[in-house]
Amino acid sequence: MGSERRPSRGATIWPQRPDGPRRARPGVPLSLDSPVTQLPRSNANDVRWLRKLGIHTVRGLLLQLPFDWESYGAPVPIAELSLTAPATVVVTVVRIQAKRSLIRDIGLAEAVVADAHGTTMKVVWFHQPYRANQLRPGDRLALAGKVRAPRYGGPLEMQNPHTEVVTDQHAPGWVGALMPKYHLTEKLTSRKIAMWVDMTLPLAGELEDEIPEHVRRSHHLLPLADAVRLGHQPATAEDWRRAKDRMAFAELLEFQAAFLMARRRIAVERATPIPYRQEVIDTFKDGLSFELTQAQKRAIWDIYKDVRQEVPMNRLMNGDVGSGKTAVAAAAAAMVHASGLQTVVMAPTEILARQHLDRFRAYLERSFPGLSVELLISDLPAAERRRVRMSAASGHCSLLVGTHALIEEDVQLASLGLAVVDEQHRFGTRQRELLRQKSATGRPHFMAMTATPIPRSLALALYGEMTFSVIDEMPPGRTAVETQVVAPDDREKAYTLVRREVRAGRQAFVICPLIDESEKLVAKAATAEFERLRTQVFPDLRLALVHGKVKDKDAVMRAFRARESDVLVATSVVEVGVDLPNATVMLIEGADRFGLAQLHQLRGRVGRASLRSYCLLLADDPSKNSMERLRLVAVTSDGFRLAQEDMRLRGMGELLGPRQHGISDEAMDSLQNPELLSEVRQEAEALAAEDPDLTRWPALWKAAERRLEQTSVT
Ligand code: ADP
Ligand code: MG
Repeated sequence: MGSERRPSRGATIWPQRPDGPRRARPGVPLSLDSPVTQLPRSNANDVRWLRKLGIHTVRGLLLQLPFDWESYGAPVPIAELSLTAPATVVVTVVRIQAKRSLIRDIGLAEAVVADAHGTTMKVVWFHQPYRANQLRPGDRLALAGKVRAPRYGGPLEMQNPHTEVVTDQHAPGWVGALMPKYHLTEKLTSRKIAMWVDMTLPLAGELEDEIPEHVRRSHHLLPLADAVRLGHQPATAEDWRRAKDRMAFAELLEFQAAFLMARRRIAVERATPIPYRQEVIDTFKDGLSFELTQAQKRAIWDIYKDVRQEVPMNRLMNGDVGSGKTAVAAAAAAMVHASGLQTVVMAPTEILARQHLDRFRAYLERSFPGLSVELLISDLPAAERRRVRMSAASGHCSLLVGTHALIEEDVQLASLGLAVVDEQHRFGTRQRELLRQKSATGRPHFMAMTATPIPRSLALALYGEMTFSVIDEMPPGRTAVETQVVAPDDREKAYTLVRREVRAGRQAFVICPLIDESEKLVAKAATAEFERLRTQVFPDLRLALVHGKVKDKDAVMRAFRARESDVLVATSVVEVGVDLPNATVMLIEGADRFGLAQLHQLRGRVGRASLRSYCLLLADDPSKNSMERLRLVAVTSDGFRLAQEDMRLRGMGELLGPRQHGISDEAMDSLQNPELLSEVRQEAEALAAEDPDLTRWPALWKAAERRLEQTSVT
C-alpha cells in the first residue's frame, strides 16, 4: 500500500518516443504549461504552425480535439477505389518529381504509383515538394485518401493523401484504424500532432474543469479529463461525440460567462443620458432627400431608447451593404448634438472616412446649423489637423469622423457622448479604454455597425455582451445585382462581359481566389493573375492591382474611383462600404472557396447606383455540390439567408475569419442547435445570479477572463 504512487498536483511526465523500443533520451519534463517549443521532435516551423492554430502550450494541445476522424479500412487495389469514399492503397513509386503549380504558384510533388496488379494512378502532394527528395522509384507507400477522376480523362488522382513509407520493419500504424484529423496548416500533419498528444495525454487529469460540477451533472456532460482522453483517442464514435459535445458546451459557457462579466463592468460605469426630443428627429427627417425605411426608423428608435439611460449603450447594428446605416448613425449624432455632446465615428480606412464626411455633412449640416462635422485622418496637412483637434477639444466640432488612428492620436474631446465604429468586427478593450479617456464626461455610449450578416444565434454566442439592431430592408429603387454562375470553360464569356461594360464607360472588379496562405503568397498569386490579365486577356484596358501588401491601398481605390483604371484586380481586401457607383461588374475567381455570405458582400461593391450590374462567379471545382451552393447566391439577395446557409454547410469560419474570434468549429457546429445555446445562457445567468463574481468557480472565472482578453469583447 505504501508503495502506491499517485501523481501529485503539477506532476510532470517524461516524453518518450511513442514507437516502442527505441527510447529517446528523456527530454525536458513536460507540464500543462510547457510551451510547445519543448515538445519532442518539434522544430521551429512546427512551433510556428502550432501557434497559428492557437496552440501555445501542452494545455492548448490537449484542449484542441481533432475535428474529425477518418476510417479507411484495409488496403484495396487501385481498380477498386471509389470516387466517393476515402480508402487505403499500398503502392510502389514509379516516378516522382517536384513541381510548381502555375495557377496557384505553390510547390508540390507529383508521382505515378502502381499497385501489386500493375494498375497506376497519380498522386499529388501540394505544399510538399520535399517529398520528391525523400521518395525514390521503388519505394513502397501506404496512402489513404480519396481519389478523383481528372476532368479530361487520364489516370485517377489522389491529392494530399496520408502518406507513410512501408518497409519490412515498419508496417503503417494506421492502415485500417481510425485516423484523427486535427486542424492543419501546411506541413504540420495530423500524425505529428497525434504523436504529441499521445505522449502528453497522461497530463489530462490535471486540467481544471471549468464547468461547475452541478452543471456538468445536470447536463450529463463528461468531466474534462475524460473528454480530453476520449476525444483524442476514442474507442467508439459515441465516445467521440460525447467528448465533442462537452467541449462545445464548455466553450459556449465560457463565452456567456465572459459576456456577463463584461456587462456587469459596463453597467457600473456612468454615461451621460441623452434625452429624446421629437423636434430633433423631425428636423433630421425633413433635411433628408429620401424617406427613411421602416428598418432604419426601428434602428434609430432602438438607439434613442438606449442612450436615454445612464448605463452606456453597447449596440451592434447589422445591416446589409447599402441598407443605409450611415443615415441611422447620423440620426443618432443629431440627438447627441442636441444635448450638447459630441459624436465620433471611426471608419476602417481613410477613403471610407472621407466618404462618411461627405454623407454626414449632406445629412446634417443644412438642418442643424450649429452641428459641424470634421475629418481627422493622418493624411491631412499639419495645420488642418491642429485646427480639427482644437475644434474637438473646445467642443465646437459636434461630429468627428476619422480612422482608427484618431483614437490613438492625441485627440481630446470636450464632451464625448457617442462613439460609433463602422465595419470593424471587434473593437478591443484597449481601444475602448483609450476612447473613454478622451472624454471629460464619463463613458460614451457605444455602437458598432457591420454589413456582415451575423445570424442571431451566432451574435448571441459571440457578441453576447451587446444588444442588436438589424436593418433588414433595403431602400427602394435598388436593382439587384444580376448574378451568374459561370462554368470554368466559359471564362471567355465572363471576360467578354467585362470588356463590353468597360467599353460602355463602366468599371469592373476581378477578385482573386481565396487561398489559405501567408499574406505574402496571396499577394504573389494576385500579382501573377494581374500580369496574366494585363498582358493576355485585357491588353487594351487599364488595369490596377490591390492586395494586402500594397502600401497605399487608399490611393489605388481613390484612383479607381476617379476612373483612372478600368479593371481593379483585387484580393478579398477590397473593403466593404466604398461607394463606386461606376463599377458594374464583379468577377470572382475561385468563387467556391469563399463563404456564401462573403460572396454576397463582395457583390455588394457593385450595383450601388441604378445601373444594371453583374456578378460572375467562376468556380475552380465544377462539382455538382459546389455549383449548387453558388447558385444559391445567384437566386437570393438576402445576406442573412446566405449566412445561415454557410453556417449549416460549413460553419461560420469564412464569415468571421477562422479562429480569429476564438470560437472553435465544434462550438460553431453546436450553434446549429439553438436550444443548446439558450440552455448555456440560462446556466451562465443562474451561476452569475448566485455568485456574480464567480468566486466559487475559479476555473470558470479564469477561463472567462481569458476569453475577454483574447477576443476583447468589452
Ligand atoms: P451602408 O453603410 O449600410 O452600406 P450607406 O449608409 O452607405 O449604406 O447608404 C447607401 C446609399 O443609400 C447612400 O447613398 C445613402 O444616401 C442611400 N440611402 C440611405 N438610406 C436611404 C433611404 N431610406 N432611401 C433611399 N436612399 C437611402
Ligand atoms: Mg457603410
